[in-house]
Amino acid sequence: MRLAILKERRAGETRVAATPDTVKKFVAMGLSVAIEAGAGITAGIADAEFAAQGAEIAPDAAAALAGAGIVLKVQAPLGAGEGALDEIALIPRGALLIGILGPHGAPERVAAYAAGGIDACSLELLPRITRAQSMDVLSSQANLAGYRAVVEGAAAFERAFPMMMTAAGTVPPARLFVVGAGVAGLQAIATARRMGAIVSATDVRPAAKEEIKSLGATYVGVESEETAQAQTSGGYAKEMSEDFKRRQAELMAETLKKQDIVICTALTMGRRAPRIVTAAHVQSMRAGSVIVDIASDAGGNCELTEPGKLVERNGVKILGYTNWAARLPVASSSLYARNLHTFLAAFWDKEGKKPALKLDDEIIKGVLLTHAGAAVHPAFVGAAPAPAVPPAAPAASSGSEATVVPGVSAAPPPPPAAPATPAAS
Ligand code: NAD
Repeated sequence: MRLAILKERRAGETRVAATPDTVKKFVAMGLSVAIEAGAGITAGIADAEFAAQGAEIAPDAAAALAGAGIVLKVQAPLGAGEGALDEIALIPRGALLIGILGPHGAPERVAAYAAGGIDACSLELLPRITRAQSMDVLSSQANLAGYRAVVEGAAAFERAFPMMMTAAGTVPPARLFVVGAGVAGLQAIATARRMGAIVSATDVRPAAKEEIKSLGATYVGVESEETAQAQTSGGYAKEMSEDFKRRQAELMAETLKKQDIVICTALTMGRRAPRIVTAAHVQSMRAGSVIVDIASDAGGNCELTEPGKLVERNGVKILGYTNWAARLPVASSSLYARNLHTFLAAFWDKEGKKPALKLDDEIIKGVLLTHAGAAVHPAFVGAAPAPAVPPAAPAASSGSEATVVPGVSAAPPPPPAAPATPAAS
């Protein structure tokens, strides 16, 4: 079976979905690997490095995709009208597409995959369970984003992080505050501590308090009956009440005016990022302070963030760049490519040398958007036409052996009773 890796064409994307290391592993699994020429350049990987591990270098996307049974991407392939090339139209019917496909922001993509007969897996929808940790693209990319946020915040800050006692006098330590202590926020705390800043952080999930403290930072937060229930069963934060937001804003007013650097990472799955740092808070900060808002892809935690831009307000620099993982593409591609390999290897038919996605597996139920020409993910059923052939009657067995084999037409599974996608409620 042929596995294709495309060059990423969406604006600002620098990552690639495979590395020479994962190509070697795919070849060992019995796959023939085709890489679109130049796919790895922005992540520091030359075509020759892929070729040295057995990959064919295809001159363009069409050549890479011709006859492919598996397609690996970072971001969603371009659809009709999204750019010079309609990548979705080039993906063979029955192929398995794996990437960070972003269906919540663009449900029309789900319809396009269904219409193209593509079995699409969106890995950012993986359930946050122990078994899925090594495939968890959100974690691998957020970890690096959190690190990079502190490094870029330090570069934009015109003073030093650690306290320095010199013959010429003492430089005071920087005070850094982290908003949201999930994967990115905890890495930001650890990085800033290593660089010598005095670090504090806030979060709404009760578990985050101990995690913040275990990294040597100070916890600052509103604690109430509401925050005791602030975590969904999927591990994500819930959207908070207006009363909580008012109390949090009061606490932020006291806290933020004392900070030199603020790293914003707070997200609520599938929704706009919560607004936590207001214009008035920014106004209260000293000139020369820096806000790094890595929640900007979801609108930002700071009211004055302009996604994609660095702006200065009242002498405070606000870094609102988007896609932070793409700002260190060598490391992020390396981890992302390993996540994809782990996912494929976990659902692999060794004898048949082809994917075998178990439809009743919790992981597959979480990520599979479309199958056999129809949307099957409970969050997107209705985004695409129903299959032409009605689903077969369920077998007498539990169905636990059900598999999806790309290239083989099969009826879609019934949607699970409850959404497998973690959702804020
Ligand atoms: P995330 O990116 O969805 O959000 C970042 C942080 O922002 C979270 O800690 C969240 O609680 C916080 N936040 C949201 N709204 C807030 C508000 N109004 N004020 C302050 N903070 C707010 O989170 P994430 O990094 O993806 O982690 C989500 C959960 O998943 C965590 O519980 C984490 O431990 C868990 N997790 C589990 C696994 C696994 O077991 N496979 C892997 C990674 C993460």
